[in-house]
Amino acid sequence: MSERSGSVSEPGTDEPPGLVVRGARKRFGELVALDDVSLTVEAGEFATLLGPSGCGKTTLLRILAGLELADAGQVSLGGRIIDGLPAHERPVNTVFQSYALFPHLNVFDNVAFGLRSRRRPKDEIDREVAEVLALVRLDGLDRRRIEQLSGGQKQRVALARALVNEPELLLLDEPMSALDAKLRSEVQLELRRVQREHGTTFLLVTHDQDEAMTVSDRIFVMHGGRIEQSGAPSEIYERPRTRFVAEFLGAANLIPVERIGANEVSGRFGRLVLDAPAPWESGTLAIRPERIRIDDPSPVNRLRVTVTDAVFRGDHVDVTVTPGPLRVRVAPAAPIEPGTTLDLSLPPAHLVALHG
Ligand code: ATP
Repeated sequence: MSERSGSVSEPGTDEPPGLVVRGARKRFGELVALDDVSLTVEAGEFATLLGPSGCGKTTLLRILAGLELADAGQVSLGGRIIDGLPAHERPVNTVFQSYALFPHLNVFDNVAFGLRSRRRPKDEIDREVAEVLALVRLDGLDRRRIEQLSGGQKQRVALARALVNEPELLLLDEPMSALDAKLRSEVQLELRRVQREHGTTFLLVTHDQDEAMTVSDRIFVMHGGRIEQSGAPSEIYERPRTRFVAEFLGAANLIPVERIGANEVSGRFGRLVLDAPAPWESGTLAIRPERIRIDDPSPVNRLRVTVTDAVFRGDHVDVTVTPGPLRVRVAPAAPIEPGTTLDLSLPPAHLVALHG
C-alpha cells in the first residue's frame, strides 16, 4: 500500500492464490479506522466482512478496490502483491450499494460496457453477455431499460456487469440494503448460487448477521477497526470467542461465573459443569436460547425456574425465566404461561467460555 507504492510482484511468488491482507492500518486524523487487520480468503470462497456501522468494513473494501490508500500493510491477490496497482488495473470489481448502473442504457449495454471499453470483438461480447445474463437469470430482459426493472432485477444487472469482466475478486458493498426483507432473502440465495456456479472469490460487506450467515463460507466479524473473530458461520455462531461476537450474531445468555474446579464454575445458577476447563479464574459463559433444554432436561446443569414472560413468534416462542433472567427458545406446540414452573438444563457442550 502507501509504503509499498509501485510494488507489484510477479505471479508465481510465494503468495497464496486467494486474497491475503497483512497488517492493514488506516487512520483518518485521530480516528483509527483499521487497526492491524490481517485476513486470508481462499480462492473461490464466499467471504463476508460483518460488523456494526463504523467498524471499518467499507474502508477495508475501498483499500482492496484501490480507492483508498492504507497507511501500512500489504494486499496480495492471486499470488501477486497489488498495492501499487491503480483501481482500474486491479483484477477486482465492485457491486455498489446504489448499483451505479447507467440509467439511459438498457440491460445488455450496461453489462457489455466493460467489454466494449476493452474493445473486445462483437461476437465475443454478445456471447459473454448472454452467458452472464443467463447466470443471473435475466435472459430475455436484455433490451429492457434500467428504469423498467425491479430492485431485485437491477441488483442482478449490477452483478452481471461486474462478473462479465471475470474479476479474480468481486467486492459487494451492502448490495442488498435497498431491497425489502422478502426480496432480500431471495436475492441472498441467488447470490450464493451465482457465486458457486461462477466460482469467483466474493467478499461481501454487511451489518446484517442473517445475511452473512446465509451466504458465506467464511465470516470475518469486525469491531472497532479489528477482526474480532473469523470462521465458518456455524463456528462463529456456536463458539463465539467474545461477548461482542456472541451478542452480534443473535441472542445470547451471558452468565458471569467463577472457576471452582477443573471443569466447574459457580455463579447465579449455582454450580455448572463445563466440557473443558475455563481459561480464566472468573469470566463469562454464553449459551444460545435454543440450546437450553426444556423438554427432556438432563440431570447435569439442571435448573428449576419460573416463566416471567412468553412471546409467540410464529415458529417459536421466546420465554424469559427467573432466576436469571435467562432467555429460552421453545417450540410453539405447548403454550407456556407466565408463572409456569419449568425444569431446564444447560448442556455443557453448549456453554461457551468467552475470552473477552
Ligand atoms: P458503515 O456500515 O456505516 O458504512 P463501516 O463499518 O463501513 O460503516 P467505515 O465506513 O469503514 O465503517 O468507517 C470506519 C470509520 O472511519 C468510521 O468511524 C468513519 O466515520 C471513519 N471514516 C471513514 N471514511 C472517512 C473519511 N474519508 N474521513 C474521515 N473519517 C472517515
